[in-house]
Amino acid sequence: MSDLKFQEKEKLEKIYEMSLGYVMSFSNRTFQAFILESVGKDIYDSKYDVNGDSKANRLRAFWQLEPNFVVGKLTKDLLDYVFETNNNLDKALFEKCKQVADRLLQVTSSEIDLNSEQDFAVLTESIKESIDKNRPETGLDRLHTYATKYLRSVCRKRGISTENKNLQSLVGEYVKHLNNKKEIESEITNRILKSAISIFDAFNDIRNNHSLAHDNPILNKEESLLVLKYISVTLAFIKTVERKRIENFKIEKDFPDKLRSNILVSEVVGKKVNLKLRGKEFTGLCPFHNEKSPSFVVNDQKGFYHCFGCTAHGDIITFLMAIEKMDYKNAVIQLAEEFNIKY
Ligand code: ZN
Repeated sequence: MSDLKFQEKEKLEKIYEMSLGYVMSFSNRTFQAFILESVGKDIYDSKYDVNGDSKANRLRAFWQLEPNFVVGKLTKDLLDYVFETNNNLDKALFEKCKQVADRLLQVTSSEIDLNSEQDFAVLTESIKESIDKNRPETGLDRLHTYATKYLRSVCRKRGISTENKNLQSLVGEYVKHLNNKKEIESEITNRILKSAISIFDAFNDIRNNHSLAHDNPILNKEESLLVLKYISVTLAFIKTVERKRIENFKIEKDFPDKLRSNILVSEVVGKKVNLKLRGKEFTGLCPFHNEKSPSFVVNDQKGFYHCFGCTAHGDIITFLMAIEKMDYKNAVIQLAEEFNIKY
């Protein structure tokens, strides 16, 4: 998935000494440990042996399969390793390789899996890198985009409306929600989170008025790092709250039926598909295959959707699982939250 160019690969191959299937002087074990430490991926996973089993071939497959920011992070770490261990370093080549790592690390947040903690860790590290390189505006901009997307997805999962809300109001609504649900145990945590609302407000301001597009002076390095730390610690805390909530949730036996009898299939499907009422059923273009005339029907009385084109069939829970690519438990939680059904 990374868009490493041919010439960039050539440079990396050279500096990593990959010509004979090796990668520098790594053994299988140290190679595996290094990559695990850097980006949390197991290079000996079978998906990386598509080009062959050697270390060099596995690294080549890694470049093909992983997104830019993951390849960028590994490239940066491997180059640090080159710098420490290679006594005859080709300095010009080294600098060019550094530029490759920098380019890859200019990550766009659409590549990031919002629920992956590993992705989040790699992202914050790449932001720190931008700040260290005196590009705080790029780094903080990425952090802001991520924080907004993440908060929006968390709010949606809990059934909090996200329409027309900026980062600060998303955090505000979220903290209020945690309080209502009594998910915050101590007063001090509550105060920290409340203060986060105003910090996120100020963060909006930095983003909107002090970014590259404007002439205002940007934050200095030390203060940018402070902002990064504060925001990422807060986000990390929210991630643990969300993880705990899903871990603690047990689906009662009759709960899925309670959802099915309280929520119309057309209400759930209608959020993703433009439905038209034809007699007793709704019809629309199937979201699971490409079509020009509708062969997808939703029947609220019988509680199912069905596609005569691709035979996709199911209820509100399976629809959410398929369309949002989530597991059963998450789909049940999301429906309960979205339609305010107590659990
Ligand atoms: Zn279909």
